[in-house]
Amino acid sequence: MSLATFAEDLGHGIGQIRLPLPFSGLKETNAYVIKGASGVTLIDCGVDDGPTRYALEGGLNELGFSLEDVTTLICTHLHPDHMGLAHRLVADGGIELVMHESTGASVERYDDWSILQRRLASLAAEHGAPPDFVARTAAAEPRPDWAGRGVAPGRGVSDGDQVAVDDDRFLEVIYTPGHDKAHICLLDSRTGALFSGDHVLPRITPVVVYGGEEDPLGTYLDSLGRIESMSLGLTYPAHGDILERGSLRARQIILHHERRLGAMIQEVKDQPKTAWQMVGQIFRPHLNTFEQRLALSETLAHLEYLRLRDNLTRSKDSGVWQYVRRSRRSSRT
Ligand SMILES: [Zn+2]
Ligand SMILES: [Zn+2]
Repeated sequence: MSLATFAEDLGHGIGQIRLPLPFSGLKETNAYVIKGASGVTLIDCGVDDGPTRYALEGGLNELGFSLEDVTTLICTHLHPDHMGLAHRLVADGGIELVMHESTGASVERYDDWSILQRRLASLAAEHGAPPDFVARTAAAEPRPDWAGRGVAPGRGVSDGDQVAVDDDRFLEVIYTPGHDKAHICLLDSRTGALFSGDHVLPRITPVVVYGGEEDPLGTYLDSLGRIESMSLGLTYPAHGDILERGSLRARQIILHHERRLGAMIQEVKDQPKTAWQMVGQIFRPHLNTFEQRLALSETLAHLEYLRLRDNLTRSKDSGVWQYVRRSRRSSRT
């Protein structure tokens, strides 16, 4: 009987370490460890708190390593459940942090959540949210300690780059923006398996938020299409169970978004609605404020996707955007 509590040996020199999460919704982050001749590569490292550090060190020990053996830390993207602890591991010395090359420009946003909150509050106001929700969103909330601090990668990588993990083994960087614009997946040259971060997850669909940038959902769907076309099998996600068929899961997530896009067109086929009104119709009721923010942001990502492809049009009424289905007859004339 195994006494392992944090880690599992997955074979082919790969280990999985389950790191606890301090917030509701997701239970844990899966970190992965790959053994090399001259050190250990760690993929993602969880949040910055004591239980995570305890689980990481315990998991490494169960796999026959210690933190001192880790020479490379690759973080799939700039979210605290993937890189909260990174600044401490890098500061301890001896570990090179590898992330997408665009990450460095976003470190300020990582450290100052008020930038994102202010942007979301102004978006909420012009998309029909009630004043009390706008005020709650704009009010600065204390940034949790477990988010750690942003740290720029020692090595910025881009699509197609190879990160050596052993003498004859490397991880190929697959750039997959959408859930986060700096998101990367990693393809194992030895096994053909994919480390998918949050890009492709089992059972749940990763949030795609709109913060005023152009077409995040289109970017995400393009990145999913790429994973689908790679005909991938074994896929190691950062949350939940290992996927047997990663490309199939990518297809399922594309279909989920296509269904939601279709439902949104139906909602506004006869009369204009605000994004806030759509949230009430598309998502389940009784969301808390945090969930409402995500739902509004995700709804906007879908509405803007449809607007940019001429399915919807929008107009401003008393300072608030209203979306409506674009009339096919008028678009032809
Ligand atoms: Zn994420
Ligand atoms: Zn995550």
